[in-house]
Amino acid sequence: MDMDSIVSLCKRRGFLFQSSEIYGGLQGFWDYGPLGVELKRNVKNAWWQDMVRGHDDISTLPGAPSSYAMEGLDCTIIMHPQVWKCSGHYDLFHDFMVDCRETKKRYRHDQLNGRWAEAKGQRIFVTAQAGDEELAAMEKQAMKFFKIRAKNKDDIKWDGGSTCLTEIESFDEVLGPESKTLGTLTPPREFNLMFKTYVGALSGEEGAAFLRPETAQGIFVNFKNVLDSTRNRLPMGIAQIGKSFRNEITPRNFTFRSREFEQMEIEFFCHPDKSQDWYRYWRDRRLQWYHDMGISGDRLIMREHHKEELAHYSIGTADIEYAFPFMAEGEFGELEGVAHRGDFDLRSHMEGKLDEKSCPLTVQLGEDGKPKWKGSGKDLSYRDDLTNEKYTPHVIEPSAGADRATLAFLCEAYTEDSAPDENGKMQTRTVMKFHPRLAPIKAAVFPLVKKDGMPEVAKEIYLDLKKHFNVFYDEKGAVGRRYRRQDEAGTPYCITVDGESLTDKTVTLRDRDSLEQIRVKIDEVEHVIRERLNA
Ligand code: ATP
Repeated sequence: MDMDSIVSLCKRRGFLFQSSEIYGGLQGFWDYGPLGVELKRNVKNAWWQDMVRGHDDISTLPGAPSSYAMEGLDCTIIMHPQVWKCSGHYDLFHDFMVDCRETKKRYRHDQLNGRWAEAKGQRIFVTAQAGDEELAAMEKQAMKFFKIRAKNKDDIKWDGGSTCLTEIESFDEVLGPESKTLGTLTPPREFNLMFKTYVGALSGEEGAAFLRPETAQGIFVNFKNVLDSTRNRLPMGIAQIGKSFRNEITPRNFTFRSREFEQMEIEFFCHPDKSQDWYRYWRDRRLQWYHDMGISGDRLIMREHHKEELAHYSIGTADIEYAFPFMAEGEFGELEGVAHRGDFDLRSHMEGKLDEKSCPLTVQLGEDGKPKWKGSGKDLSYRDDLTNEKYTPHVIEPSAGADRATLAFLCEAYTEDSAPDENGKMQTRTVMKFHPRLAPIKAAVFPLVKKDGMPEVAKEIYLDLKKHFNVFYDEKGAVGRRYRRQDEAGTPYCITVDGESLTDKTVTLRDRDSLEQIRVKIDEVEHVIRERLNA
C-alpha cells in the first residue's frame, strides 16, 4: 500500500479534493467528494450509533464497572472567550515554530530533524521535515550545499543518526530544509494554534473570540444542563461530533493534520474512586471499535503515555494509533486519545484558572491569592441523591478524529489483487475493501446489456433498493468495467440483471471481496443484502 496510489484514487474517484483547488488550494483544508462524504458520514454514524443511540443504559456491558447513561449534544463553534482562558487553551495551546529568513517558510520546531554532515572541511547540521523521506532529503540538501555530485556523495561524512532540531542549541551551523545558506532559521517562538475572529461590530479585543480547537469544552460547560434536563444519575457520558479548528504550523500528510477537521468526543463523568476502572473500560472499548470496523490487528496499536508525555491535567492517557503508509517503518499516527482528565476541567470552569505554569490538576490559589482567569462561579459538582455524597466528577475523555479515522479506513481498505475479466483472463484490480457499514455505496445494479427489457427490470430493483440503502445504477460500458469501477468505490455487492432474470426472476449477486456470484430471487434481494450488510 503506498500513499501516492491512495491519494490519486481519492481524487480520481471523488473521495477527497483539495479545498479551493481552482485557486491553487489552501494548505491544510480538504473537501470530501461524493464518495468521501458518504464514507465520512458512515464513520460518524457508526460511532454515534455504537456509542450513543444504540447504547444499552440498563445492563452492565462487558468490562464496564456498572451500567451508565449516554447523551448527545451539539454545541457552537464560537463560545464565550472565557471558556478558552479557563480551559488553558488561551495560555497553553501553542506549538513552537521556526521561520526561515531566506525562504520565508515556517516549520514546527519539533518536526524538523537533522544530521551532522562534514565535507570540504566544514561541519553542518542538515535538516529536513521529519518523516519517511527525511534521510533522502537531508542527503540531497547536503549535496547541494557542498556542491557535490551524486556520484561523489560518499565524500560527505555523516555523524550520528537523525536528531530532532529541539536538541540543537545554536542554529549558526544549521542548514534549513530548503535554504542555500547556513543559519537562516530563527530561534523557536510560541505560536497559539487557535483561530481568532471577531464577534459583532466590535473589531477590537473586546469582540475577539476563537474558533474552538476541540469540541470537549462545549460538553464541560453544558454538564449541568444535560444532567438536570435528563435527570440522569452518574456515571454518564456526553458525546458530540463537530468541527474543530487548529491553525497548525505545518499541516501535512493528506487529511491527517488539517486546520479544519471534525472530532468525535465523549466526556464521561464518574465518581473519582471508580475513574481508573472507567479509564480502562473506555480505552479497551474504543480500541475494539476500530477492530470491529475492519482495521486489522497489526496496523493498530494502543500506546500508554509515559509520565513525562502526559498533558498537564492528565493522570493517564492512551493513544490508539494506526500505521499510516506515510509514516516511517515502525511508526504510528494517533487516531484517538483516551485521557483520564481528573476533575481539572469542571474545577477550572467553576473556580477559574490561576497559575498556568504550575500545571494544576486541581485549582490552587496563586501567590497573590487572586485567580488569573475567573471561572463561572457556578457549582458544577454533583450530589448523589441516593447516598447524598457531593463530589466533583472525574472525567474520562475518548477523543477521536473523524477525518483521521476516515483516512485510516481508506488506507486499510486499499487493496490491489487480481480478478478475472469478462474473458476469464486474470487482471490486476484496485479494490477498496471497506467494512460494509462504512462503504459509501452498498450495492450497484446493472443490466447486463442495454436492451431486451433488462434496463427496465434493473431500474425497478434500483428504485426499490434506494428506499433502504445508498445504491447506484449503471448501464454504461462492458459489465466487467462496471464491476471494476464499483470495486474502486468499495461497493460490497453488485446485482446484475441478465437474460435469465426475465424468465426466472433471479439476478446475480457478486461479492466484492470473494468475487463469488450467486443467483438470488428478485423479491429476496433486499433481504439478502440487508443480512450481509449486518454480517
Ligand atoms: P497531534 O498530537 O497529532 O497533534 P493531539 O494529541 O493534539 O494530536 P487531541 O488534542 O488529543 O490531538 O485531539 C483528539 C483527536 O483529534 C486526535 O486524536 C485526532 O484524531 C484529531 N485531531 C487533532 N488534531 C488534528 C488535526 N490537525 N487534523 C486532523 N485531526 C486532528
